[in-house]
Amino acid sequence: MKLLKSISALFFFLISLSHNAQGRFDKVTIETTKLTDNTYMLVGAGGNIGVSVGADGVLIIDDQFAPLSDKIISALKKLSNQPVKIVVNTHHHGDHTGGNENFGNLGATIMAHDNVKKRLKDKSPAAALPVITFNDKLTVQMNGEAVMVIHVDNAHTDGDALLYFTESNVLHTGDTYFNGRYPYIDLNSGGSVDGYINAVKTGLMLINDETKIIPGHGELSNKTEYETFLKMLETLKANVLAEIKKGKTEDDVAANTDITKTYDALDYGCCFITSEKIRRTFYKSLKKE
Ligand SMILES: [Zn+2]
Repeated sequence: MKLLKSISALFFFLISLSHNAQGRFDKVTIETTKLTDNTYMLVGAGGNIGVSVGADGVLIIDDQFAPLSDKIISALKKLSNQPVKIVVNTHHHGDHTGGNENFGNLGATIMAHDNVKKRLKDKSPAAALPVITFNDKLTVQMNGEAVMVIHVDNAHTDGDALLYFTESNVLHTGDTYFNGRYPYIDLNSGGSVDGYINAVKTGLMLINDETKIIPGHGELSNKTEYETFLKMLETLKANVLAEIKKGKTEDDVAANTDITKTYDALDYGCCFITSEKIRRTFYKSLKKE
């Protein structure tokens, strides 16, 4: 009887778990924005998805969470009757790679930086792992254009890639750009303030005034907004370094709203990373130098 009870308790626990996991994504809709004749941006929950369609098949950049794969596939079917041939991961975080197993099982080839594979290896089934990895850069010839995949060192993580569609003039930054928000810099996965700033500078070197930019999070963007984001990063770096020079502690910096006030006023602290969190991140990363 006791065993029966614990089995049924376990059963209900598992049911409620799966309900919660699904429930979180039930109401998510995938919104598609056309960028050029053959490129699109998909927004659902998690990192923004970049898409290339054409005679060679479908390439997607990042794949959000596993429970959204069916919705993503439905959205892609409206753009192309071809299968997803290639998935490129911009980095290892679960809101960008959660669908890997589903797309891998459907026959897609997953590509990512070496460190993405290292970080996914222990906690993911084989189908979710990148099949092609790179340590510096890679070019994918797809749907009539070269797609440059460029690694940037120790930025948001230690495995970030920027992707640039050379004919479409579209840049996907992964999480090295949060449009209009303070970014998450994952110091525990090899991210750093200096690497993050360098990643944005690298991205800016690739583009021009007409480039459409898909940020990791936030709305479709352009060069002017991307430059504003760089200015925010450089301003915060200078302000936090000045405090470190004065001998201030992490808690001093966390409490000092003057450091971020220009960008707090523009609501950069709106979302996942608050202004206090970004001051702490900058302090921790810059203090190490
Ligand atoms: Zn991320």
